[in-house]
Amino acid sequence: MPQPTLPVVETFHSLQGEGLHSGRSALFIRLGGCSVGCSWCDTKHSWPQDVHPLLSLEALQQKVQTAVANGAAFVVITGGEPLEHHLGPLCDALQTLGAPLHLETSGVGTLTGTFAWITLSPKPHRPPEPEVLAACHELKVVVHEAGDLSFAEAMAAAASQGRRSDQPAPHLLLQPGWQSAEGQQLAIDYVRSHPYWRLSLQSHKWLGVR
Ligand code: SF4
Repeated sequence: MPQPTLPVVETFHSLQGEGLHSGRSALFIRLGGCSVGCSWCDTKHSWPQDVHPLLSLEALQQKVQTAVANGAAFVVITGGEPLEHHLGPLCDALQTLGAPLHLETSGVGTLTGTFAWITLSPKPHRPPEPEVLAACHELKVVVHEAGDLSFAEAMAAAASQGRRSDQPAPHLLLQPGWQSAEGQQLAIDYVRSHPYWRLSLQSHKWLGVR
């Protein structure tokens, strides 16, 4: 029986730049494939699936083991849109290697795999699946224009519904679109007057690191 493989755009050990775990050491596994089509996407090279090398789960295990030995505190499965793949076998293969698994997703697609932390970054033109909304640990909405704030509130309300009783509401983050002066001002003003939201910055971009 052939071993499962996944298209991998890149893997790299850096610091998480965004969200509640910002500033922590992490190994990133960027999977190829995304059909969500955000106009402002900064990883458009990840959209096609078939141009990236197929890596075996064993090869990815080795990368995680090396990163953990070098200090990675967790592994981030990102993309592209990781949920365009069935993530169960990948999670099974990586689960026991000493690093919690984090998922970064737009929520478009069926939730597969088991994660210690799910970052949901929903997109207004392709709303997320309810099961991802109900399972996410942080809700991170990118802000370019005023309409993104009402979308953020609608997503926050939806994310608080349908939760298991032992699953707390997600942390709520507004992240200005990169180099969007309007988004930055809107997000800052909104967080200042709505204290249940917090600002998320793409600190790796400000620092000029990966
Ligand atoms: S979901 Fe993410 S990877 Fe896909 S187009 Fe949007 S920003 Fe880019």
